[in-house]
Amino acid sequence: MVPPQSLRSLPPEGARPALGRPGGGPAAFADLTPAVESRLPQVGTTIFTVMSALAQQHGAVNLGQGFPDFDCDPRLLDAVDAAMRGGLNQYPPMAGVPALRERVAEKMAALYGHRYDPATEVTITAGATQAILTAILALIHPGDEVIVLDPSYDSYDPSIVLAGATPVHVPLTPGSFAPDFDRIAAALTPRTRAVVVNSPHNPSGTCWSEDDMLRLAELLRPTGAFVISDEVYEHMVFDGEHQSVARHPELAARSVVVSSFGKTYHVTGWKVGYAAAPAALSAEFRKVHQFNVFTVNTPMQHGIAAFMAEPSHHLGLPAFYRAKRDFFRAGLAKTRLRALPCQGTYFQCVDYSAVSDKPEADFCRWLTTEIGVAAIPLSAFYADAFEQRIARFCFGKKDETLALALDRLASL
Ligand code: PMP
Ligand code: GLN
Repeated sequence: MVPPQSLRSLPPEGARPALGRPGGGPAAFADLTPAVESRLPQVGTTIFTVMSALAQQHGAVNLGQGFPDFDCDPRLLDAVDAAMRGGLNQYPPMAGVPALRERVAEKMAALYGHRYDPATEVTITAGATQAILTAILALIHPGDEVIVLDPSYDSYDPSIVLAGATPVHVPLTPGSFAPDFDRIAAALTPRTRAVVVNSPHNPSGTCWSEDDMLRLAELLRPTGAFVISDEVYEHMVFDGEHQSVARHPELAARSVVVSSFGKTYHVTGWKVGYAAAPAALSAEFRKVHQFNVFTVNTPMQHGIAAFMAEPSHHLGLPAFYRAKRDFFRAGLAKTRLRALPCQGTYFQCVDYSAVSDKPEADFCRWLTTEIGVAAIPLSAFYADAFEQRIARFCFGKKDETLALALDRLASL
């Protein structure tokens, strides 16, 4: 039986029945390709790729897909260059370059008060996406259930399905996007093997409070459930401190903390991240990791390790993005879009109901092709495509890019 999957990505181009005849390739050989039974029959191209392509096709300002349109600190490039030219180009240790694991452990101890052992508890990954998939494949068994809080990032569901498990979707509270602990409690069963938590949250820009973390710890106390804590936006928190699960010993003991250097250092295309977890969990994580990617590219790891030695690079990020958020929100205040609260991430959600009653996907397409600003429909982050007349913009862009987008949005 195929476990339920979300419909958050568009159906594959030229979709055919899972057991249908293959197409493509020279006609003479087509018959020789065995039929494929898809492991992910409902997955197509992600909404981020679709909207970026549409933006490019129509010359729209791309505030859809989350990535900066400015470059990283040149000192980071110099550090990677020095590593490459210094001959650091062969396989690093399987778990990652030791200096980088040490920097990650130091940073987490300094910020969250939990000292992970870099030798046994920190693993460098090919971005957060690989860390999430690897954690799920390592810890989750066929038949297990994994709780996912919607709206949720698009990679969680397919990762759970590939593990043979069932995603159990629980909505965050509509309006506030706060965790609804009564509903989470109601979704817990003896088969619940993990809960995926993401704070600061993509797409809503909300952050979990200390009280939320304490309630999660209390709820999971009688269970054997793990927490996969997606903290890729940990350094983009605008009010108060980031509530890492690492701050809460009881949660840290059952959690894999995942983060991404791509977000923190403006290099999303480098695909380097990490997973920090207690030694017993990390040992299982590494068993999968070593046959998934084995290692992550060496010079980037050395370069990031050297750059990270200066903590002001990540400590300065909230102020950097707060200024962009405030600039973008001040511009939005002059439009008919209503900006929702944004406590973290580089995403700003808007309620467009004063402008249009189109469904979200149609509105975002129209906004891209007719107004010239690309956005992502929030419904793409819900397994049931829940509609709220909300679109997500990414403000991780140059001020001039944001200004051009705001100019166009003012015409709405
Ligand atoms: N989780 C969330 C919530 C994200 O927004 C992203 C970025 N697209 C990722 C994971 C993946 O991060 P990476 O690019 O490092 O794989
Ligand atoms: N995390 C990015 C976003 O939410 C997109 C990454 C991707 O395209 N997979 O926009």
